[in-house]
Amino acid sequence: MAHAEIIAVGSELLTPQFLDTNSLFITEHLNNLGVEVVAKEVIGDDRDRLTGAILVAVNRCEVVVVSGGLGPTEDDVTRDAAATALQRKLVLSLEQESILVHRFRQINRPMAPNNIRQAYLIEGAIALANPNGTAPGQFVPTRRGALILLPGPPRELRPMMVNEVVPRLRPMLPQQVIKVRTFRITGIGESDLDALIAPVYTKYTNPTTTILCSPGDLAVHLRACGKSEHEACALLREVGNRIAELVGDRIYSEKADEPLEAVVGCLLRKRRATVATAESCTGGMIASRLTDRGGSSDYFVAGLVTYTDAHKRELLGVKQDLIAKHTAVSEPVAAAMAECAVARTGATYGVSSTGYAGPQGGTPHDPVGTVYLGIAGPGGTRVSRIRHGGDRNRIRTLATQSALDLLRRRLRE
Ligand code: ATP
Repeated sequence: MAHAEIIAVGSELLTPQFLDTNSLFITEHLNNLGVEVVAKEVIGDDRDRLTGAILVAVNRCEVVVVSGGLGPTEDDVTRDAAATALQRKLVLSLEQESILVHRFRQINRPMAPNNIRQAYLIEGAIALANPNGTAPGQFVPTRRGALILLPGPPRELRPMMVNEVVPRLRPMLPQQVIKVRTFRITGIGESDLDALIAPVYTKYTNPTTTILCSPGDLAVHLRACGKSEHEACALLREVGNRIAELVGDRIYSEKADEPLEAVVGCLLRKRRATVATAESCTGGMIASRLTDRGGSSDYFVAGLVTYTDAHKRELLGVKQDLIAKHTAVSEPVAAAMAECAVARTGATYGVSSTGYAGPQGGTPHDPVGTVYLGIAGPGGTRVSRIRHGGDRNRIRTLATQSALDLLRRRLRE
């Protein structure tokens, strides 16, 4: 398999304000060609540092893509650095010069003398047309493959990657396609998930398997490489289906960019159902997640955060003797809160939370980390008691995720 490195050039990319997004786009297109990106680097506008980085990259990879630093000014160092790294000259291209002159005439602007820098190509390079800017890209054959220079602005780089780079790389590469399959999973911890699926995925080096985790939310990525799309997809099916069988309905989505609240929103919309929340310890986090997506007014009607016993009574209508008898953190109160959310708003489903997020509080029976989550609606009212360790933020995040998952499961019944 061919390997690639991407170097993003620009001092602004080393500040907290700017993110290197070009490399994600480049990676996607290289992966589609069966090229694996093995390293990425961000380098400021520093000629020597960039020269060193390009030299290392071209010596160890078939494909090296550099983005940015092709402008006309002194601090646009990519052309010089690439020429020095390859020990080749920069040569004025008369064709590029006339394209530049023509372009400036077209946009009715005088061409500054330093713009002529952009007409210089590295010896042996093919110029890559840039219909959206003045700097041409360069495709430079190297000992191992190719060094590709592209301008930094995404609106210039993207069409050039698709129209100029991919068609030139394809014939140079062995026929390979990389395909990815993702499972988004909740309701199981990382080590339990790993123990469950390791017997399957460790038998394969292709596809490779990665588990990504954040509190309460896991993702399994399978990445297969084949001689054709058909072959790569078949590998993903073979391993993915076995994993899916083991993980079962803890998989809530196979779309990498679909969070749990989006799945819940789709299910609510499909059933023409609505939801209201009555939250205590999660302080509105469930409502926040449910309203994260555009169009959530289709299914979300209201959210009440009732922290004190008095407000659970007055705003929600939970009976005082219920709280007095069982305390506010209890199964009956969670059930009543969910039911009151339905009664107060007319929503199809009510979701409630009441628990001890800590660090203080808790009882011997219900220590810090205990949360009762209620779902009321068609099919009755059910309460789940969950208990997690960790700090306040973790406990509330996990409780929110569990509440959304309980609603998802209820909607699938
Ligand atoms: P130009 O001819 O427009 O000067 P250039 O190749 O010199 O092109 P840069 O000056 O390096 O490009 O970058 C121009 C702008 O493009 C940056 O200010 C930034 O907004 C955007 N940009 C540059 N590199 C990246 C990157 N890796 N990811 C996302 N945006 C980028």
